Amino acid sequence: MPLRALAAVNVAAIERNVARLARELPRECRMCVVVKAEGYGHGAVASARAAQAGGAGWLAVATASEAAALRGAGIDGRLLVMGSLGASELDQALAAGADVVAWSERFVGAVAAPGGGRVHVKLDTGMGRLGTRDPDQATRTAQAAAGAPGVELVGAMTHFATADERGDAFFGEQLERFRTWALPLRERFPGLIAHAANSAALLREPAAHLDMVRPGVAVYGLDPFGEDPAARELEPALELRTHVAALKPIAPGESAGYGRRWIADAPSTVATLPVGYGDGWPRARTGDVEVLLAGERRRLRGTVSMDYVTADAGADPRVASGDEAILIGARDGERILAEEVARRQGTINYEVTTALLPRLPRAYHRDGEPVAEHDAALLATATRPGEEAGAGRAR
Ligand SMILES: *Cc1c(COP(=O)(O)O)cnc(C)c1O
Repeated sequence: MPLRALAAVNVAAIERNVARLARELPRECRMCVVVKAEGYGHGAVASARAAQAGGAGWLAVATASEAAALRGAGIDGRLLVMGSLGASELDQALAAGADVVAWSERFVGAVAAPGGGRVHVKLDTGMGRLGTRDPDQATRTAQAAAGAPGVELVGAMTHFATADERGDAFFGEQLERFRTWALPLRERFPGLIAHAANSAALLREPAAHLDMVRPGVAVYGLDPFGEDPAARELEPALELRTHVAALKPIAPGESAGYGRRWIADAPSTVATLPVGYGDGWPRARTGDVEVLLAGERRRLRGTVSMDYVTADAGADPRVASGDEAILIGARDGERILAEEVARRQGTINYEVTTALLPRLPRAYHRDGEPVAEHDAALLATATRPGEEAGAGRAR
């Protein structure tokens, strides 16, 4: 029996994306790859390994528990926890040997108290979320970090609110505010790493590269501007596969799914695919999202339920029960990108992959070669074109 559904992740694509992004950078600029939220749904540990193999010297996560999980899986190297940290979270981050972010002297004191750690000071140049808006406060925090026993002042950082909006002037203002604060600070504290750029900033503005960049989404081959990743030579790393679990005719007036939101107006065929919002394919995607069946685009119709979606396979379906269905990925020259799914749902590509839930297995391969035995087993039981399922052939 095929798996219900599977996210097949090509770690070689992640490696190549990291190397491709590095080509934008001056040699001395460090690369800190963001693997928060399970590597944007791709799996944090596998993504971290691939990022390091691709040349990333640093990794970043949002939370202390994410840092602990990476260390628990044997990931070493420099690691930055970018998020806000409560007392117990700070302990966990420091125990993981991660760098942390500060914007107050009090927080620097909390880092020093248990024995110290490495600190990056955050200036809020306009994101309006974390960090201090006051450059003097940020400088005082940096001084405190440089002077506190056991504490090492490592970085100065900010985060852009509009880097992905082309032609937006606020991005330039933020960059200017940051440079005005961070560059003199770096004179005072030689070796200080100034960093600001997310994927969009990395790709759009060399002046934002500074001493380190923090790309996330682009590393996974997703376009930060929501456009075709291929246009920027980015390679989507994730393919979302499922299969036809049941195939049956539907006559005019008959319906499929909760609420009877799909009532056939012509004779057709319902292909039921075992993936739903319990796997991370949100109910909000009830609408005009498409799927590849036998390499052809078919519409998903009817309400997305927890465990199933239904596709209109047409009056003369070219698929049989057991055949694969591609929700994100390419077959026979047709391609469904996460960017397309996002656009049809009214969200962004980031959310499409990050929404994938633990029930959906991830299998890792390198251009088709399974990374480990476990992946080989998953990929081998995954759907293949023409595979027979329990329900038997419908034609
Ligand atoms: C998530 C995050 C990034 C990465 O952003 P992308 O748009 O995915 O490249 C960088 N910096 C911070 C502070 C973040 O929270």
